[in-house]
Amino acid sequence: MNEQTAIVTGSSRGIGKAIALQLARDGFNVVINYRQNREQADHVLEEMQAAGGQGIVVGADVSNSEDAQHLIDTAVQTYGRVDVLVNNAGINKDQLMLRISDEEWHQLIHTNLDSAFYCSRAVLRHMMKKRYGRIITISSVVGINGNAGQAHYAAAKSGLLGFTFSLAQEYGNRGITANVVAPGFIQSDMTAALSPEQSAKILKSIAADRLGTPEDVAATVAFLASPQAGYINGQVIRIDGGMSSI
Ligand code: NAP
Repeated sequence: MNEQTAIVTGSSRGIGKAIALQLARDGFNVVINYRQNREQADHVLEEMQAAGGQGIVVGADVSNSEDAQHLIDTAVQTYGRVDVLVNNAGINKDQLMLRISDEEWHQLIHTNLDSAFYCSRAVLRHMMKKRYGRIITISSVVGINGNAGQAHYAAAKSGLLGFTFSLAQEYGNRGITANVVAPGFIQSDMTAALSPEQSAKILKSIAADRLGTPEDVAATVAFLASPQAGYINGQVIRIDGGMSSI
């Protein structure tokens, strides 16, 4: 068993998967989480183990308080400690604001914002006892700039900033850091639905002239998860290839 343990919510695919694999390469026991796609989560574990890493798969809908608690409890029962929490699980459902239903609004807020509160609250109790922890939350450039058609998504992603700044101040004196990573447009299932016209428009605003990869995000998360990042607290790091606007 490795010495340190990391939980990555929503790590059955996309950015979460890349983060889970990177943290396993860095020597963490990794708790892979999914909501509905067990098969994909199992594949991530197989890939991790084939590369010499260690982990487990835990199904939990982190937009639900009991499920989130179960995820953290399972990690603690299995490995005895949790050093790193990556709040990554998220969904989008683009819609003009006037057409967003109450149900869609609540679903986006529950999944993208409430989940970070439920998981962070559950894990902080353990981190405080150890006087060590890293909470890294995946927001978005949309949470900083806003974006037409994403009012609910942007509201949740902005909320994660204030939430993280507050955690940083509340727990910074206990060896715990809380930071936000704000990706731009990253190749994943979430952006696969963009039309060629939308992709071309987005590309024009990216200085790097390409979409980001999940590995671009994972590299920064892995640094923030490391002991070397102990003096970085309450920060937002954009990983967007130099986007001028969206
Ligand atoms: P993705 O490919 O759609 O993957 C989403 C992941 O989240 C899946 O593993 C999914 O599990 C999981 N998930 C969704 N709802 C969940 C829930 N209630 N409980 C547990 N797991 C849940 O998305 P992605 O592009 O990798 O995005 C990852 C994060 O980065 C999200 O927070 C997203 O908002 C953020 N982000 C993405 C981009 C981008 O361009 N892709 C840009 C900025 C920010 P299942 O497979 O089981 O459903």
